[in-house]
Amino acid sequence: MADIIDGKAHAAGLRAHLARRVAQLHADAGFVPGLAVVLVGEDPASQVYVRNKAAQTRECGMQSIEHRLPASTTQDELLALVATLNADPEVDGILVQLPVPAHIDPERVLLAIDPAKDVDGFHPLNAGLLATGGSGLVPCTPLGSLMLLKDRLGSLAGLHAVVVGRSNIVGKPMAQLLLREDCTVSVVHSRTREPAALCRQADIVVAAVGRPRMIGPDWVKPGATVIDVGINRIALDDGRTKLVGDVDFDAVAPLAGAITPVPGGVGPMTIACLLHNTLTAACRRRGVELPD
Ligand code: NAP
Repeated sequence: MADIIDGKAHAAGLRAHLARRVAQLHADAGFVPGLAVVLVGEDPASQVYVRNKAAQTRECGMQSIEHRLPASTTQDELLALVATLNADPEVDGILVQLPVPAHIDPERVLLAIDPAKDVDGFHPLNAGLLATGGSGLVPCTPLGSLMLLKDRLGSLAGLHAVVVGRSNIVGKPMAQLLLREDCTVSVVHSRTREPAALCRQADIVVAAVGRPRMIGPDWVKPGATVIDVGINRIALDDGRTKLVGDVDFDAVAPLAGAITPVPGGVGPMTIACLLHNTLTAACRRRGVELPD
């Protein structure tokens, strides 16, 4: 049976470490990093995410700045707020919670965020820096997945990693991060031929597809490390719903070497890495060395 990678515990450890570094920065350099989160509209899932982000930001000793705007907010009004946050010296990180209402172009909003404050790591400048070996801000979910992998495996050099999914927010940055760690990387997508056979060659499988339990035991080499990024809500026969990953956990766990559960795996790492990025952005912007 695979070892279960406890993302919740790992994220709690990371947040505690961040809190110590924030306190040290405050004592040594006299500032508190600030994270601004912008929510447009009433999407219930987004409201929960934003509440959790704000609470964890404060728990780490950072300043949480929340802007809740009505669904009727125009694109120009949102862009004006982003410009204000870009110019605000107290704000080190800006996150506009997605999805935004249909009348707002998320690309326009993303491009308007100062790349130095882009703690989601989605701005093309940060994507380009990741691809070219620079030190920009890295998207939180792939960064958290990489931390779990390195904690489990140590050096990843020479390992074959297969990333299933090629989205800009998970699959592509994940592949870049693994390449940076000297993995041999394959990326599987909807047009890949014989994806299960390719995946079965992998030492590391990262699943970011958005299809419940798609990765079965025939996709996984015995002993492989499996990171399940997927979060899918499925209906049960009794009418209730349940969160499951992109990996068929019950079928894959008996043969994998290690596996992340859903929930409790990658998910908690995402917010912890958002706070990590906020601290990094704060130090870089202010020309202060990041405390250990
Ligand atoms: P996405 O933008 O929908 O991308 C899905 C990717 O999977 C696409 O590249 C697609 O290929 C590929 N794909 C779809 N069907 C496939 C198939 N049958 N075989 C092989 N590849 C296939 O999704 P995403 O935003 O990356 O998110 C992926 C999952 O991660 C979702 O469940 C999401 O909820 C979850 N997620 C979790 C977190 C977290 O904090 N844990 C954060 C972000 C996302 P094509 O490019 O060819 O269409």
